[in-house]
Amino acid sequence: MKRVLLLIIFCFCLLPADAYEVAFPQKKDLTLDSNGIFFVGKVDKHESLWINGEKIQTKKNGSFAESFKLTPGGNTFYLTNKKKDIVDKYTITRLTPTVSSSNLVELPMQECKTNMDDVILRSTPENFGMNRIGYLPQNTDLKINGIKNDFVRVYLNKNLAGWVASDSVIPEQRGNKILGEYKSEGINSDNISETYKFKFTKNLPYSIKLENNLLYTDVYNVANCSNETFHSEITLKPPYCYSAKMKDGELSIKLPKVDMKFPKIIIDAGHGGKEPGAVGCMSDLEKDLNLKAAKALRKELKSKDYKVLMTRNSDKFVSLKDRVSFAKDKKGIIFISLHMNSVPEYANPNTHKGSETYYYNEFSKPLAKSVQLELTKSLGTRDNGIKQASFAVIRPTEYVGILVETAFLINPEDVEIYKSKDYYKKVAHGISKGIENYLKQL
Ligand SMILES: [Zn+2]
Repeated sequence: MKRVLLLIIFCFCLLPADAYEVAFPQKKDLTLDSNGIFFVGKVDKHESLWINGEKIQTKKNGSFAESFKLTPGGNTFYLTNKKKDIVDKYTITRLTPTVSSSNLVELPMQECKTNMDDVILRSTPENFGMNRIGYLPQNTDLKINGIKNDFVRVYLNKNLAGWVASDSVIPEQRGNKILGEYKSEGINSDNISETYKFKFTKNLPYSIKLENNLLYTDVYNVANCSNETFHSEITLKPPYCYSAKMKDGELSIKLPKVDMKFPKIIIDAGHGGKEPGAVGCMSDLEKDLNLKAAKALRKELKSKDYKVLMTRNSDKFVSLKDRVSFAKDKKGIIFISLHMNSVPEYANPNTHKGSETYYYNEFSKPLAKSVQLELTKSLGTRDNGIKQASFAVIRPTEYVGILVETAFLINPEDVEIYKSKDYYKKVAHGISKGIENYLKQL
């Protein structure tokens, strides 16, 4: 008995004086350009927490989330405990919003060329969204006739313009060789792929669009084609993956021959190493939880005889570019990126909970749908549906890629779900069932 009492006293002494922990904001002095800030963390059972006089509501496990508005300039938050002592002070400075706008400036037609590889040709002059229409290699001849934001307008044909970043082109004098010419085309086939080759006299701007099972390819500034545009349509088979590349005047479109019963699956545990990802109410780091989910999913898929590879299987940093190259090099056909969600600092963590699945290419949408359905069924999380978004790891057309946000790390209700027994098993079960159903319906 005495020993128990001593132990209790000892444990009590070990409790920190504050008996609460703020997981976010991580710094007590912050400068932001958002109109709000949230606090998430946990409060010890016997303690209570007030922020600027407002009592913080906690879940059974002590986790909490609360959001506050920010006024431009300095905002001070006092954290007080049961004894009404001020225990912490946070100073959040909101930057005064700046308005920037830029109008289109028309230019006389000018000749220039790309000065690097993988220059993104876009349908609008913005560095975001679903506006990528092609990727141009270095030394692609272009005609430009306008400038807006940090983009120059590329003349494609009478009816169509594209946009590239203005720092990705340099002026060039081409004299009488302004346009290119179409030369020939052919198909190469081997055990692993079928390749369509379209030859031109030089690198030219092009766009590729998949609609249903038809791949529309347009190459622009071609003198010997009507409206200076070469057009081709290729019929694709499930899962509709392809790769396209312009090099030395040749546009090649490669279609993989895929074993659709057991396609190679790449599992991508988000973040890692120096990049923790989001931080949860209970100070969990997203990178660790993503890795646990990835390992559970690998186990589940392997038990069903799938070929599975992981972009990382330890706590190490892997760049987005390396994740994509890995998946392409290994000829992965299905790519599952695992993440856990958070919200921008101005949003309210309490109203954001549940699972959501992202896709970029239309042909990845059925996989996103199927995984989202089975995942929410398995986890019991709120179904936030599927969304289209331009994330680097799911943009490639070489594989069917989705990004899954299994739950919100900063939402106290979701914290209870992901801290529950068998959470990772349920994630693995839901996602693998979603993949299987997708493959069956192809
Ligand atoms: Zn993430």
